Amino acid sequence: MFQDLINEALETGRPYIKEGEVATYIPELGRADKNKLGISIFCRDGSRFSCGDTKDRFSIQSISKVISLAVALEVCGFDMVFENVGMEPSGDAFNSLIKLEGSNSHPYNPMINSGAIVVASFIEPKVSFEEMLKLARCFCQDDGIVLDEKVYGSEMSTVARNRAIAYLLESKGVINGNVEEALDFYVKMCSLSVTAESLAGLGLLLANDGVDPSGKRLLNSDTVRVVKTIMLTCGMYDGSGEFAVRVGIPSKSGVGGGLLSVVDGKMGIGIYGPSLDAKGNSIAGRKILQFLSSQMKLHIFAKKD
Ligand code: GLU
Repeated sequence: MFQDLINEALETGRPYIKEGEVATYIPELGRADKNKLGISIFCRDGSRFSCGDTKDRFSIQSISKVISLAVALEVCGFDMVFENVGMEPSGDAFNSLIKLEGSNSHPYNPMINSGAIVVASFIEPKVSFEEMLKLARCFCQDDGIVLDEKVYGSEMSTVARNRAIAYLLESKGVINGNVEEALDFYVKMCSLSVTAESLAGLGLLLANDGVDPSGKRLLNSDTVRVVKTIMLTCGMYDGSGEFAVRVGIPSKSGVGGGLLSVVDGKMGIGIYGPSLDAKGNSIAGRKILQFLSSQMKLHIFAKKD
């Protein structure tokens, strides 16, 4: 029955694919098949449901910002992170420089590029990329996650805008350590290859307060609470407000077409749908989540009967 609902959700989203486009500003992402669509749901009781292209690998892109923020909170602490990055939605595109020249030179939040590059600069001296890869595999319950060298190379060859952001931040003294190393670390994290299933695994970890399905605690409760709150307010680019009203599930999207959602205490949801709306969110993914939220009363403020 639940499987039927998930199948129906996927078909509800599918007609919107044609209204979006795959990202092309990183050339390798432009090679994605726009018509791919898949959803995986991992529940706290151990049940798992999948429909569509849930085993296709794609790059995690901005969803890595969730992993990086969680690790930064664990290894650097709340104060160090939020002394350098804000916790407010920016209302601008993910790769915007506009507000960095304002009176407060700190990036608005860790879910946009500027914030994530600062977060990377704090993690990088303490945790190597190889260790981050291991952590990503563990958080997502997916040993198949690797660095997608093609995406990494493609992004590094077109990294001018992120490099501009990084150097502007460095000029304001917000970058910790070596700016090029922070940038490289950030791009590598964006180039991790995941599936809709891996994202459901990560979502379940967050839904379950940082405890994995074997009962092992991987993240502190406080870390998980902060990460989910930032996902709710800032996770869907400059569409975060509308998404919170219409769907009300803490989520993070990436321009590779991934969508990570956390139904607190219940389930993790992973979606792959590389056709994006104008703000960079999976266009079908948004509709699928809206359908599931209304059908299953998953909105964080849905009236509980
Ligand atoms: N690697 C991408 C960039 O820095 C991530 C963008 C995204 O998924 O929002 O532009």
